[in-house]
Amino acid sequence: MLSISIIDILTIMKILKTVMFIGLFVALVTIVVLYFATKKEVHTHFHAGFIVYVNGQKQDYSDNQYMYLAVCSVIAKQDNNDIQIRDMVHLHDNVGDVAHIHEEGATWNMLFKNMDISFPPDIPIVGYRNGKKVANLLSLSIKPYDSVIFIVGSDKGIDTSHYVPKQHIVDIEGKANMCGQ
Ligand SMILES: [Zn+2]
Ligand SMILES: [Zn+2]
Repeated sequence: MLSISIIDILTIMKILKTVMFIGLFVALVTIVVLYFATKKEVHTHFHAGFIVYVNGQKQDYSDNQYMYLAVCSVIAKQDNNDIQIRDMVHLHDNVGDVAHIHEEGATWNMLFKNMDISFPPDIPIVGYRNGKKVANLLSLSIKPYDSVIFIVGSDKGIDTSHYVPKQHIVDIEGKANMCGQ
């Protein structure tokens, strides 16, 4: 009787050992999978359209001087904390009406600052977003596929129903080669 119970105890210990090994293995695999899954989440990248009128004149920002020339896939590899304001929102590929946003919380003010554009402080700036007039639009966070109009000074002769079409934003998103993925 005594020998049988010792065998039973040995068997139980063997099973426990196996269960522990399986448990450890599953835990390790889970940690590795979670590590790589969360690592991919670091990079934010979305797009929004904008048109600016200054005293009735539609502005053209497609010139090289307004472009961000660094390669954005390098930013993607950095930690979120290292992203500078100039890396957060900017223009690419000589497209002057679609902003590339690489970090949540980027504002239109940041975009214009990065483009080295300043508006006269004594002239009113009126913002429209997706068909509606929006107060303080310059200092609001840009959202994916937003399409906005800024009217600096006179709004005479401006068609406020004409926005950058969503399809144009989608097209730029599809072919942006400097932007990284
Ligand atoms: Zn982009
Ligand atoms: Zn970019």
